[in-house]
Amino acid sequence: MTRIRSKDNNGGSVIEPRAQPETLGEMLSERGVSRRAFLKYAAFTASIMALPPGMANVMAAKLAKARRQSVIWLSFQECTGCTESLTRTMSPTLEDLIFDFISLDYHHTLQAVSGDAAEQARHIAMKENKGKYIVIVDGSVPLKDDGVYSMIAGRTNIDILEETVKDAFAVVAVGSCAAYGGIPQANPNPTGAVAISELVKDKPLINLPGCPPIPEVMSGTLSYILSFGKLPETDHLLRPLSFYGESIHDRCYRRPFYDRGMFAKSFDDEGARKGWCLYELGCKGPVTYNSCATMKWNGGTSFPIQSGHGCLGCSEPKFWDMGGFYKPLSTGLDNVGPALAGAAVAGVALGGGSAWLARQHQDQYMKDLVDRDKDKANADKKKEG
Ligand code: SF4
Ligand code: SF4
Repeated sequence: MTRIRSKDNNGGSVIEPRAQPETLGEMLSERGVSRRAFLKYAAFTASIMALPPGMANVMAAKLAKARRQSVIWLSFQECTGCTESLTRTMSPTLEDLIFDFISLDYHHTLQAVSGDAAEQARHIAMKENKGKYIVIVDGSVPLKDDGVYSMIAGRTNIDILEETVKDAFAVVAVGSCAAYGGIPQANPNPTGAVAISELVKDKPLINLPGCPPIPEVMSGTLSYILSFGKLPETDHLLRPLSFYGESIHDRCYRRPFYDRGMFAKSFDDEGARKGWCLYELGCKGPVTYNSCATMKWNGGTSFPIQSGHGCLGCSEPKFWDMGGFYKPLSTGLDNVGPALAGAAVAGVALGGGSAWLARQHQDQYMKDLVDRDKDKANADKKKEG
């Protein structure tokens, strides 16, 4: 809690707790954030979320009146990268201040308390904010062998998740591990890791995949929830359409080279030096839906493709098992047919910049992955039999 220095009855100096500002608007004005800067943030967030014109002012008004939101952050099988992304060491931005404003009542990495006191804080937050708190989860949940592969305070992840989510208002699965199972679920998935959406069926849930997700995607989604009291519109994988509605390929600045069939063949050839398309070096941009090409990273500085490396597809299911980061999509996945190759070649031939074609690439790609998993499961069964 914030503290202030004041005088006691004898003229001495005492430290007293200071009341927390009630609304986000009060907190920002206390921190010296001008109305102009706040409106700019609201306009930026409304535009990246593709809200209708005029909604920026509505969002600003609602955000200013937003009250402290209780958040319980659970970390399961993960690497802490999602928290690192959130607390990136850039100079404090308005997004950081919004995270300061929420009441992060429980977070393994960021909380000051530990042991019994930490578990008590979680229970108190759940009781005091019944039906109103948001649960943010990063990491997947292991189910194999009764969930023993990840325990907190002697309890399995599934146990803690079920208990915490029961009285929540909504659940936000942050990062590809929570959204899809991620790296812990990568073949051969030794812990039986599953996504949060496979376990939470009766609460509003949104996925913010990425390894890690873009910080502004997390703060933008949170701002939307604070403003409108509901989750934003999502796609078939429960991702907010505003941030995951277009593929990296749709918005990539190297796209004109792709359309003209001009591809770098190695990371140091002339094509690479001239900024040609990285498709033949394994770029997964055509099958990956995320905002990296428009919002970029590190406060809008750059993104992997701009730095000369192809997209790994980190915001898509099973990105770790996509057959190799440096293997071109056109060669198909391990053990699957060349269906995608046809689609990709068609893309070059058409030279069209259509989101539709990228979606066809992705649908085919995901179908191939599912078929491959089925084939493998059948082969394993046969072996066992
Ligand atoms: S394949 Fe990759 S580098 Fe080439 S245009 Fe698409 S996203 Fe950009
Ligand atoms: S460019 Fe691709 S791999 Fe890199 S962060 Fe964005 S979605 Fe993930």
